Amino acid sequence: MPSSTPTPDAHKVVIIGSGPAGWTAAIYAARAALEPVCYIGVPKANPGPVLPGGQLMLTTEVENYPGFPHGITGPVMMAEFQKQAERFGTKVVGEDIVRCDFSRRPFTLYTSEGKEVRALTVIIATGATANWLGLENELRLARIGGGVSACAVCDGALPVFRNQPLAVVGGGDTAMEEATYLTKFASTVYVIHRRDRLRASRIMQERFLSRPNAKVIWNKVVIDVLGDQSVTGVVLKDTVTGEVSTMDVKGLFIAIGHTPATAFLKDSGLEFDESGYILLRDRTSHTNIPGVFAAGDVCDPHYRQAITAAGMGCQAALDAERWLAAQGVD
Ligand code: NAP
Repeated sequence: MPSSTPTPDAHKVVIIGSGPAGWTAAIYAARAALEPVCYIGVPKANPGPVLPGGQLMLTTEVENYPGFPHGITGPVMMAEFQKQAERFGTKVVGEDIVRCDFSRRPFTLYTSEGKEVRALTVIIATGATANWLGLENELRLARIGGGVSACAVCDGALPVFRNQPLAVVGGGDTAMEEATYLTKFASTVYVIHRRDRLRASRIMQERFLSRPNAKVIWNKVVIDVLGDQSVTGVVLKDTVTGEVSTMDVKGLFIAIGHTPATAFLKDSGLEFDESGYILLRDRTSHTNIPGVFAAGDVCDPHYRQAITAAGMGCQAALDAERWLAAQGVD
């Protein structure tokens, strides 16, 4: 690959994504005088909303990010991150990057408005979107903070869920993990699974099933969510008999997997794992392509927390800065 000799029109650092990973990378890169440009994306439906700011834009209260003893809402938190990044000179562009050419340096990125952007380094922080069932009431209640969530660790400890019956949809490790976590607060946690067998690993199943308030509802799918301003119940359909029933719950947690936002990187030469997450090298933010870094949920199927994403954003900016310095760019 040709060397990364600076060209006049190439940015030193382009960041794609505007969640905690992207903004933290921007804060560090800007403070290192690397004049980062952050492509924050445009709102879209997928079928749940995908917004600049990422998953936190769909979260009501964030209570587990250190430094906010009284909590902070996800959207306010992301607005504060952005202000901090802009304060140090980050340039913010409200467009999507739709394709990347990493075959030669400087790299070329193509925007949703048909522009070409050149970059010496790229930090990918596009996150992962929770998969939703796609039901109208599910998405509506998730948007208004009405008791539908795709993250039990983020929302499960809220007072509204204490000592209430809660439901988790899914049969994988995430569903078990979320459901086990919820057993600490709920009166009963119902895992609703569409088959008669869980996909989750044995140990995760046992961890959940050993709780006295754990129950599995087999062979059922959720076909509607009841409640105007907050969840009051779900409508279930039996996948074997077709029978329709209702169940009273005060919270609904969707745990049917996540999809990393990497479709625009198809054919870019980047390496992904079998689920589409970007693979990193040696516990750093380096990808398989020198000069391309990744941070946050787009390369992390395990933790998916604002604080871990922010930490990875910091790592990516430091790695990019050191990589540029090694190329003679400062
Ligand atoms: P997953 O393994 O793909 O499981 C998704 C679950 O959701 C499956 O049980 C699936 O049902 C169900 N599902 C999918 N679409 C559905 C729909 N439209 N309606 C109803 N149910 C639906 O995803 P995951 O649980 O998020 O796990 C992803 C990866 O992360 C896995 O490799 C997992 O092992 C790993 N992980 C590990 C840990 C840990 O070790 N601590 C924790 C979390 C995740 P079917 O079974 O019928 O397909």
